[in-house]
Amino acid sequence: MSLIIGIDLGTTFSAVGIVRDGKPEIVPVGDEHIMPSVVGLGPDGGLLVGAPARNQYALYPDRTVRSIKRQMGEQTTVHLGEQAYTPPQISALILRELHRAAEAQLGQKVERAVITVPAYFSDAARQATREAGEVAGLVVERIINEPTAAALAYGLDRSDQRQLVAVYDLGGGTFDVSIIELDSGVVEVRASHGNTQLGGDDFDERLREILVARFEEAHGVSPRDDRRAMARLLRAAEDAKVTLSSRPMVRVQEEYLLTVEGRPLNLDAEVQRHEFEAAIRDLLDGTVDALDAALKDAGISSDELDKVLFVGGSTRIPLVWEMVREHTGIEPAVAINPDEAVALGAAVQGAIIAGEPLDAILVDVTPHSLGIEVVEFDLQGRTIPDHYSVLIPRNTTVPTSRAETYAGVHPAQTAINLKIYQGEHAIASRNTLLGEFLFDNLKPEAPGLPPAIVVQFDCDLNGIVNISALDKASGKQAQTSVRAAHARLSPAEIAGARVSLEQLEQFGWGEGALEVSAEATAPQSLQLSTEILALLARAQRTLEQHPGHQGLLDAIAAVENAANAGNQDVLEQATEALIDLLYDLEDE
Ligand code: ADP
Ligand code: MG
Repeated sequence: MSLIIGIDLGTTFSAVGIVRDGKPEIVPVGDEHIMPSVVGLGPDGGLLVGAPARNQYALYPDRTVRSIKRQMGEQTTVHLGEQAYTPPQISALILRELHRAAEAQLGQKVERAVITVPAYFSDAARQATREAGEVAGLVVERIINEPTAAALAYGLDRSDQRQLVAVYDLGGGTFDVSIIELDSGVVEVRASHGNTQLGGDDFDERLREILVARFEEAHGVSPRDDRRAMARLLRAAEDAKVTLSSRPMVRVQEEYLLTVEGRPLNLDAEVQRHEFEAAIRDLLDGTVDALDAALKDAGISSDELDKVLFVGGSTRIPLVWEMVREHTGIEPAVAINPDEAVALGAAVQGAIIAGEPLDAILVDVTPHSLGIEVVEFDLQGRTIPDHYSVLIPRNTTVPTSRAETYAGVHPAQTAINLKIYQGEHAIASRNTLLGEFLFDNLKPEAPGLPPAIVVQFDCDLNGIVNISALDKASGKQAQTSVRAAHARLSPAEIAGARVSLEQLEQFGWGEGALEVSAEATAPQSLQLSTEILALLARAQRTLEQHPGHQGLLDAIAAVENAANAGNQDVLEQATEALIDLLYDLEDE
């Protein structure tokens, strides 16, 4: 077996892949699939590479080198203690670590490698990368472009159709988007754009700003001048950011962050996903602009695009997916873990050079979206019942976990009937009902507010979905599990799934309101139908625009009283009167 390993030498993380028995796979480094591209000088003077170097960064930033990739091709040196190193020498330490991990895992010597570089890398930077490989003791068979590697990982080169693909790569420190053309096995980069100073690190900083503000609010002092505290907050922000990719909120706790006059001060803050999204949206707008610029350079319009591939760890942020999907009308392919795709593709290139036969990688995915039924409100505040809110989009690799917060429609609501569906239709009931369960004895989130619940879906490798619901006010939990369809597909098949914009626009994403089943509300006291609860919710919102409006307050009271009294005729009259009044007020 003549093996050629594939290496993704990334700005913040690197990874190594091989093709074994015809299938590309990632070679783990320790317990992880990716290794931080960080090199440091340890406390005892020894060299540290990867996770240990990254862990010491907060303590010894002067003895730690990060993001060396940015300096590849420059005539410069960096210092680790007394010793000066060139950028290829630092990169070589990273490559050597990956090389060793691969040999240990395979139990044999490996000498040859394919290494990837960004499409925009200059000749000097490519040459420096080749040199780094040689210093690490590798025979560098080829330097290939990262977007090309991503396309190879998806097996797109094995289709005979000509295809135009946008590879959107948002990593830790850099962003780039390339338009590539594939035709009978030939891959050509037609245009490339990006920002070499934009990535997950910037999102961490924006989130750290939120944490700093919370700390200042709580204690009236700022941690800004304390380097250690700021470094700890940056790590906490990165962890929180990752959590927010799958959960609607995160709690960040850092004990003894700062000591003021002998008194230790802690950070205890809750951050909502939408706050984080608002903080990074302008940065993401820039990436969408770069996508347009790349399309323009390639001389094509976005509807000529066949596919969008997602690469880079930061594409796991749900807002990235939403923005790119909305902008292009194409559902981005994320079937391969986005931080592994480039290394897998480099391994595929290695196998092609070695003349080894290749099978498709098969990944387990959810072939249909999974979600629940909610009530939506249109711009006029009118209700749209039976709306489908997706928690896990189709073609997501499993296992996966996603949680969202939903609000009830009315403060008096005490129960929610959760209906779990599988499918792509915007109308919930047109999808396949997988199961339902009643979540009752709910409490208002705060006085006068409807209950709020966090719904979480956990989908395992066998397509079993565990659904759990948490009532935020009471802390009560309930759960059930259902069996969803489950498929094993090649990434090329998955990337081929293209959804039209009209279909996409019907999706309900994000926060919705949960429908209440009439039987489910508290007995006797409030037997309100969904429509009436929704109407009352709409009236509450109108009331916010017209604070203290007596006519409206009376009309609301009339409906509530009639409903409580259980008098159907009176209730109908009162509802009609309220609807008329709402139309008048909403027109103003
Ligand atoms: P590189 O730029 O080195 O190629 P990667 O593609 O591995 O790096 O991306 C690393 C970035 O992805 C880091 O900023 C990391 O915090 C971020 N990241 C990884 N997983 C997630 C996640 N689940 N949600 C948000 N960001 C993530
Ligand atoms: Mg990368």
